[in-house]
Amino acid sequence: MQFSDITGLDDVKSALLQSVRNSHIAHAQLFLGSEGSGALALALAYAQYINCQQPTANDSCGHCSSCSKYEKLIHPDLHCIFPTTTTKKFKKSSEAISGNYMPQWRAFIQENHYPILSDWAAFIGAENKQCNISKEESRNIIKALSLKSFEANYKVMLVWLPEWMHPFAANAILKILEEPPPNTVFLMVSYNSDQLLSTIISRLQLIYVPSFNDTEIVSYLQSEMTLPADKAQQLAFLSEGNLNKAVKLSEGSALTHADFFKQWMRVCFKMDFTNMLQFAEQFYSMSKEEQKSLLFYGLHIMRETTLWKYGAQNLIRVQEDERNFIGNFSNVFDAAQIEMLSREFNNSLKWLERNSNPKILFTNLSIFIIKLFKVD
Ligand SMILES: [Zn+2]
Repeated sequence: MQFSDITGLDDVKSALLQSVRNSHIAHAQLFLGSEGSGALALALAYAQYINCQQPTANDSCGHCSSCSKYEKLIHPDLHCIFPTTTTKKFKKSSEAISGNYMPQWRAFIQENHYPILSDWAAFIGAENKQCNISKEESRNIIKALSLKSFEANYKVMLVWLPEWMHPFAANAILKILEEPPPNTVFLMVSYNSDQLLSTIISRLQLIYVPSFNDTEIVSYLQSEMTLPADKAQQLAFLSEGNLNKAVKLSEGSALTHADFFKQWMRVCFKMDFTNMLQFAEQFYSMSKEEQKSLLFYGLHIMRETTLWKYGAQNLIRVQEDERNFIGNFSNVFDAAQIEMLSREFNNSLKWLERNSNPKILFTNLSIFIIKLFKVD
């Protein structure tokens, strides 16, 4: 991956290039961004840059022997660690390690420059399972770094989503993170630093990767997804800086949430219990990631409704039909009720993470909403 392959983010790119120019290559760095940000892509472009044999001032050359191996993620001095789980192919938990999934990881990253964990889980056929970085991986990290570097300037240990690391593994790598062997660079890429151990964070130099702005998303959707300008603009509004989401919206896979949510609210409003149970069945049949994403959509609607209530109609980042729905929604609920509803959606998300039964969870949430409608 070259810096030029990544849309926008000029400030972070130039800060990274500047640090290399000043020979400040920290031995442990944390690329911190949110889901759908360029954090992983930047870490990969940076790793390729510091190992390129003929770098220019702004980018790696893209064709030296190091770059060609980096482009395919097959460089012997690039080690990647990422969350995994057991699958049909690797049934034992001891087999659920990054090394075994490396061929799939390469294929996945080449197609997804802005990946999220649920996409990766789906890619390896583990949609409803929680992936993590197991205890065993810490041993693999230490082992890989104890080997002499083959050919590169820097041996790179890339850890994608260290927040999913088993605490045992996280503790086991503290020492090597603090004092890695010479010419070794740890690049961690996280979407949620709140879940990282403070002892890990304190050992890392932070590189904050901002979410994409609307112009960057529009430009990506136009050039990579060949969307017309107005459509790209609409989706940029909806995706709130998350390029992964923008791409899914452009493929039409995320828009159904809007319909589901609207119909579900209508059913609750009418206290139509028969249909409510049918919705619970539908919710149950979705993958865990779809269920979460639906609840996130609900939270998005509530945020926009709050804005609407405070008279910030022009700040609302939605399409015309959604705008009407939000207008109605804000007529039915007052600000305090919207807050209660948001809290309940957030709680449901937590319970989903802890593997609550989705049907019961959805039914309880529906009853909560019905009661809220009845208050008026
Ligand atoms: Zn090169």
